[in-house]
Amino acid sequence: MRTTKFLLSEKEIPAAWYNILADLPYPMEPYIHPGTGQPVGPQDLIPLFPMELIKQEVSTERWIEIPDEVLEVYKLYRPSPLFRAHRLEKALDTPAKIYYKYEGVNATGSHKPNTAIPQAYYNKQEGIKRIATETGAGQWGSAMAMATNFFGLECAVYMVKVSYDQKPYRRSLMEVYGAKVYASPTSNTQAGRKILEADPDSPGSLGIAISEAVEDAATRDDTHYSLGSVLNHVLLHQTVIGLEAKKQLEMAGDYPDIVIGCCGGGSNFAGVSFPFIQDKFAGKNLRVVAVEPKACPTLTEGEFKYDFGDTAGMTPYMKMYTLGHDFVPAGIHAGGLRYHGDAPIVSLLFDKGVIEAVAYHQTSVFESAVRFARAEGIIPAPESAHAIHCAIEEALKAKEAGEEKVILFNLSGHGYFDMTAYDSFLRNELVDYDFALAACSKE
Ligand SMILES: *Cc1c(COP(=O)(O)O)cnc(C)c1O
Repeated sequence: MRTTKFLLSEKEIPAAWYNILADLPYPMEPYIHPGTGQPVGPQDLIPLFPMELIKQEVSTERWIEIPDEVLEVYKLYRPSPLFRAHRLEKALDTPAKIYYKYEGVNATGSHKPNTAIPQAYYNKQEGIKRIATETGAGQWGSAMAMATNFFGLECAVYMVKVSYDQKPYRRSLMEVYGAKVYASPTSNTQAGRKILEADPDSPGSLGIAISEAVEDAATRDDTHYSLGSVLNHVLLHQTVIGLEAKKQLEMAGDYPDIVIGCCGGGSNFAGVSFPFIQDKFAGKNLRVVAVEPKACPTLTEGEFKYDFGDTAGMTPYMKMYTLGHDFVPAGIHAGGLRYHGDAPIVSLLFDKGVIEAVAYHQTSVFESAVRFARAEGIIPAPESAHAIHCAIEEALKAKEAGEEKVILFNLSGHGYFDMTAYDSFLRNELVDYDFALAACSKE
């Protein structure tokens, strides 16, 4: 009898997150305060984050225990299943074994609650009453709305105005969990008012929404800010994905030759891959591939340098692969991959050649998404479909070479809130955007 789903029991949810900073053979460059030019210290971050998360940001402990209260909430949807894609393998007629870890099994449909839940918990522990955050496509706002609700915190979500108008059901989801959702730019903040004065019809942007959420948090004692990707502690929380996948592959009697994740800020990619990169540092031979859109190719075409994390320049400088903090990517449907930078840890690993990166156009990505849906049933998030496209390419290469490669990819979420994107694809209305080099070379 062949197995399709590899399932763990609740007792097998990892008891600790894996901190790759303990095993990095190279030093991380510090975050730099843009005002002083000095490394950022804990006191600079205290207005925005709870102490426990600030500590995790710089910790070099290999294992960081997951609090019981967080495990209790994780149990609502973890462990997540690992699938063997038998039907996709057959459709591709490949000797490769394709496995995917499915992070769409929680109510909000992506991997983001893995960090939203501990972030809400640590804020609650510190007596914070309210979280302010931003959301672009809506996945992060949904995850934070759900998580804050579980821990009895209020939640203010600054949602990029175009998405607010285009994705009313994402907004409803957040409101069901009790969050207040604002179409950004708003007149609540100085940053928002400034934008509205210049352009009352501004469609908003993630950069503007971040500036509004940070200002909201920084100007209220009861409120903290929260970020859904990029930072070290976010990547840390996501390692539950790879830690579970490792156990599940053991059950299957396999070990991956290739680990693949789509890469926006880098959190789900880090989550699935870091526990395997630990083995790679110890001498194991495997490839790790980050997949990005051609319209926002941060690793494949960006520069490794210090840059701001947001458009308005309110965050510290971080050393990362970046297209420039004022780069505005084309309106591709994989909203979660439209970030100008990459997590500093992911950037460093790419710079050192530990991981690879590849970029694809959205039409080929959607072709693979539909192929996957027709074989496996799940309609993937447009972001996750980037990883699928890479897995399919690798499986076809294995077929040509006649090799039985073991491929693992992270299916970071489902696409049931993204059906307008599928409509556009099915009507041949998707446009492929190349990255305009001119937009990035502003030193
Ligand atoms: C947000 C999101 C991403 C991109 O974010 P990362 O931090 O790069 O993981 C990818 N997939 C899904 C489904 C998302 O919601």
